[in-house]
Amino acid sequence: PKFGTSLAMSDSAVVDAETVEEGAETFEFQAEVGRVMDIIINSLYSNRDVFLRELVSNAADACDKKRFLSLTDGDTAALANPEIKIKSDKDAMTVTIEDTGVGMTKSELQNNLGRIAQSGTKKFMEALGEGKADVNLIGQFGVGFYSAYLVADKVEVVTKSMQADSPQYKWTSDASSSYTISEDNSDPIEGSGTRLILHLKDDALEYMESAKLEELLQHYSEFVEFPISVWKEKT
Ligand code: ADP
Ligand code: MG
Repeated sequence: PKFGTSLAMSDSAVVDAETVEEGAETFEFQAEVGRVMDIIINSLYSNRDVFLRELVSNAADACDKKRFLSLTDGDTAALANPEIKIKSDKDAMTVTIEDTGVGMTKSELQNNLGRIAQSGTKKFMEALGEGKADVNLIGQFGVGFYSAYLVADKVEVVTKSMQADSPQYKWTSDASSSYTISEDNSDPIEGSGTRLILHLKDDALEYMESAKLEELLQHYSEFVEFPISVWKEKT
């Protein structure tokens, strides 16, 4: 057998060795996250273009926070190069949105991507209940990140906080009830920032086309104040 030595694990500690990387810790999403994900995926299916606006606006917010913190710290070196890059990889069937913003620590990953502000969620659900479900509600109530699952069946967030000595982490979830976090240095982020890797659903491969991405950016992200570049796909 492959695993000759006996791994004495209790039932609850059993993890799927196929999908969970070595050294990755598994966490449960707060229950509200699952509900909001379901609502987003079911009610916004025909508006799924909106994912790019949400993720680019998070990238811009992160650049803005870094600028603010750098100014208040007097750390002008950290001010260099706020930017957002979007790349697709047709072999891997991914779209990557990368920013040079604040990044996240491990506890920020857990708090920001594993839970949602109770009040915002409640309002979001109420508004949906009143039949006012429209795409603008998503951003308004702070559930924008989960719109990634409109087009992706798996999302990886590689991030390095601008906090001194914060390691680089990888957060991963396939929109189930849990996510994993591991330390990850396979492709080091310079300074600080976040790289969001969207593993596209089979019916969302059109988002790998740079022309499509550019069209969406023109439509939705015209007023982002940081430079956004779309890298042409490998040919
Ligand atoms: P909102 O942007 O309204 O706060 P989101 O669901 O879009 O809600 O994002 C949740 C949180 O996750 C953000 O508030 C932020 O703290 C964190 N986050 C998301 N994307 C990034 C990113 N690219 N860089 C740093 N933090 C991020
Ligand atoms: Mg947002």
